[in-house]
Amino acid sequence: MSVHKAVRTPADLPVSGWYALLPPPKAPEVLRGRHEADWVIVGGGFAGLAAARRLSQLLPNDRIVVVDAQRIGWGAAGRNSGFMIDLPHELGGKNYGGRREHDLQQIRMNRAAIEFSGAAAEEFGLQPYFVRAGKLHGAATDHGLRSLREFEGHLVGLAEDFRSLDAADMKRITGTDFFIGGTFTPGTVMAQPAGFVRGLAAGLAGRVKIFEKSPVTGIRTGKEHSIQTAEGEVVAPRMILTVNGHLESFGFFKQRLLHVFTYASMTRTLSDQEKRTLGGEMEWGLIPADPMGSTIRRVGDRIVVRNTFTYNPSMTTSNGQMQRIGHRHDRSFKARFPMLNGVEMEYRWGGHLCLSLNSAPAFGEIEDRVYAAGCCNGLGTVKGTLYGMLVADLAVGTGEPMVADALQEPTPSKLYPQPFMAIGAPLRLWNMQRRAGREL
Ligand SMILES: Cc1cc2nc3c(=O)[nH]c(=O)nc-3n(C[C@H](O)[C@H](O)[C@H](O)COP(=O)(O)OP(=O)(O)OC[C@H]3O[C@@H](n4cnc5c(N)ncnc54)[C@H](O)[C@@H]3O)c2cc1C
Repeated sequence: MSVHKAVRTPADLPVSGWYALLPPPKAPEVLRGRHEADWVIVGGGFAGLAAARRLSQLLPNDRIVVVDAQRIGWGAAGRNSGFMIDLPHELGGKNYGGRREHDLQQIRMNRAAIEFSGAAAEEFGLQPYFVRAGKLHGAATDHGLRSLREFEGHLVGLAEDFRSLDAADMKRITGTDFFIGGTFTPGTVMAQPAGFVRGLAAGLAGRVKIFEKSPVTGIRTGKEHSIQTAEGEVVAPRMILTVNGHLESFGFFKQRLLHVFTYASMTRTLSDQEKRTLGGEMEWGLIPADPMGSTIRRVGDRIVVRNTFTYNPSMTTSNGQMQRIGHRHDRSFKARFPMLNGVEMEYRWGGHLCLSLNSAPAFGEIEDRVYAAGCCNGLGTVKGTLYGMLVADLAVGTGEPMVADALQEPTPSKLYPQPFMAIGAPLRLWNMQRRAGREL
């Protein structure tokens, strides 16, 4: 038998705008006492809920339990910008492009995950939180525009649909003349992330038992596995860990996961006059030409700005860090929307991303009948869903050929030793963000 104590449990703060805009949730069911199940899943984000849904489809009579430390939708799954992207989107890359064969495989897998989420959205009535709207890429510099045109060339090679946009198109859509050109790709789904995962959990509730606000403090693996919380325990022969970067908190993938935070601010509601002054379309999501630039979303009456990556091996951020980055959000917002002078941010938040140096996921059977799906390299709305789905297939013995494809991917490579990481990672992020220039 092995014992894995959690050296830390998640405590994401403060509330994200997405979560705050939802109606207050029902009181959580906290794990108390001893429960027996066929499957225990730790972590109720995109990966955990996808695993639970897939298991419930494959084995409808099995008892499936999901345990999360926080409310569903409170963690990164409800803190992200909601781009569910079908195309290759290598965060570390120069222009989101990649190798052709690999990209074609990624597109197939990403679309399978989006369809899996789409079927859930359909079944549980989550369409308002799952909109097949496509995404914009926006360039604010000549260099950014060259990158986008290269990206378009890459899309031609992949036989993928897109629309090349000029400055006038960008102004018509976004209301601002900040962008000198852009690209529209139609396959991305724009989610209200907290609404979507909360709705997914509610839809699963008849088939899956979900405990919230129940941090798992320890795991025992053996003939029967078990997880412990302050007040309860779940015993099950099979366990799935979908805790993203917190895999390392339990001692798995040690020195292989890179803990990075990124941050967002959401404006207050724009008045009718402010909306008229801005013009543009009511709903759009824009990804910067430089991966280190600012992501912008217009969601009807509000605008959301996301930028800045920081290296936080402690897996937490601080108020001071969020405040500093909030000033940067304000600058990015003012540069794009000078006509909205006086519009303040109502919500600001940060969230934990798990990356690996070689962009590989933490996926597979990590001990006998213990499975992991995490480390989605900043793309977890789709990749988390994908690996969550596939880890359930792997555990049940279904899902070919996609499971075999996923198992062929490399595992997260070893990080550089300390103090090189502590010095090198922030320096590299700082330099990449500095080079993003006006795209930030
Ligand atoms: C500001 C921001 C913007 C982003 N934008 C995008 C985007 O537009 N598109 C995109 O694809 N991705 C985006 N991401 C990344 C995306 O949010 C993550 O990749 C995704 O949430 C990962 O899903 P997951 O289910 O693997 O992990 P998570 O969503 O992190 O879920 C893991 C769950 O495990 C729980 N947990 C951890 N430890 C324990 C424990 N000890 N006990 C019990 N429960 C535990 C946590 O509470 C959490 O709910 C963004 C992230 C941030 C922060």
